[in-house]
Amino acid sequence: MTNTTDELIFLATTDIAAVTKGRAMRLADFNRDSSLGWVPANLGIGPFGHIAEGIPFGSSGDLRLKPDHSSLTRIDGIPNQPPVSIAFADIVETDGSPWKNCPRNFLRKVIEDLRTEYGLGVEAAFEHEFTDMSAPSTPTHPFSLAAFRDAEPIGSEVMATFARAGMDPECWLPEYGPHQYEVTVGRTDALAAADRAILVRDTVRAHYTARGRKVSFSPVVTPGGDGTGVHVHFGLDDLDGNSLVFDGSQPGRVSELAARFAAGIVRYAPAMAALYAPLLISYQRLIPNKWSTARAFLGLQNREALLRIAPTNEIDGRDPKSQLHFEFRGADIGANPWLLLGSLLRAGLEGLRQNLDPAPVIEGDLDLDGKHSDLAELPASLDEALTALMADKTVSGWFSTEFLQTFLAIKRDEIAHLKDHSMTEQCEAYSNVY
Ligand code: GLU
Ligand code: MG
Repeated sequence: MTNTTDELIFLATTDIAAVTKGRAMRLADFNRDSSLGWVPANLGIGPFGHIAEGIPFGSSGDLRLKPDHSSLTRIDGIPNQPPVSIAFADIVETDGSPWKNCPRNFLRKVIEDLRTEYGLGVEAAFEHEFTDMSAPSTPTHPFSLAAFRDAEPIGSEVMATFARAGMDPECWLPEYGPHQYEVTVGRTDALAAADRAILVRDTVRAHYTARGRKVSFSPVVTPGGDGTGVHVHFGLDDLDGNSLVFDGSQPGRVSELAARFAAGIVRYAPAMAALYAPLLISYQRLIPNKWSTARAFLGLQNREALLRIAPTNEIDGRDPKSQLHFEFRGADIGANPWLLLGSLLRAGLEGLRQNLDPAPVIEGDLDLDGKHSDLAELPASLDEALTALMADKTVSGWFSTEFLQTFLAIKRDEIAHLKDHSMTEQCEAYSNVY
């Protein structure tokens, strides 16, 4: 083990492809004035590791990674690895002003807009599913103790690392799919929650790698297989931290304010799909009967809803008021958590600004051939999702022209790279990255 004075700190950003990148320095030298260099064209690197053609950045230009000291987290307990501190960095110009394309600043800005325009705060938590790709071929039973044991000691080690890092681990579980697992952490302020999501995926992966195993968070690892999602839980609070979601007199016990917010998310869901489901294979998961998202609607405890009113724990008279919240089920690992949560909040903010009618609450299971046949469909492919994004002036208007150009270049490059590949090959290509 290294001496504490030999430890490094990694200043991290996460890019459009949802890959975490950055630069390290000695922890002993890290202080309030610390920042490290960064390059604009780095934003244009797609999931397969090369700069996409057609991005608006060339070989010139310089930026800085400016660490947010409140995000500093020490990840310790990965077998055979020294502890590493990670601080999330905002990407800034060399004079310290925000870079207009910084994904973290995108989330920071909408949090600020909700606070100043409506006096709202947001707490969130990300729930991650993943698949153990190196497990023996015969899967154990869904949700079983045997499946839990298959993952040991990794489950215990991951949860211990999270606890030591102050990441508030909640639950580690064997999921439904073959060799599929899930891990959840507690809710916290929106920006910290998205930072935490980045740490969760990286830390889980590092633990599997340290044990000589391979894990993938990819939305589908085999054609037609079970989906693997990243569900985003969130609620709205007043500025004293009191939840504003609950109103026992309203459908689904959701307050009018929260249902208008939800209406914005439902309304813009098709145009935002490229942001929360950004991979070609994301659309293998966003279909009915996958318990992911069948259509764009607000559903009471329904696991096929885009936006689910999550259940509350009322055992021994626990109060549902502070617990009631939404769960967004459309997203997967291809989405950068800052852009994902930022766009959900932007869409909700639109619901409030435009005073949309409260989203109707769909109760019970879906009847897509009957009474629910008119629920809005999501794009059926990444191509369709990109067209929907560019056609919607509201959603595309949230981003700078440079950012959109970079996003499109990466995604078009990805489509060109994979379009002649079989579904099996596409699944394999993505599971090697995610
Ligand atoms: N695996 C499902 C998905 O793709 C979610 C299952 C669940 O946790 O309800 O989102
Ligand atoms: Mg799950």
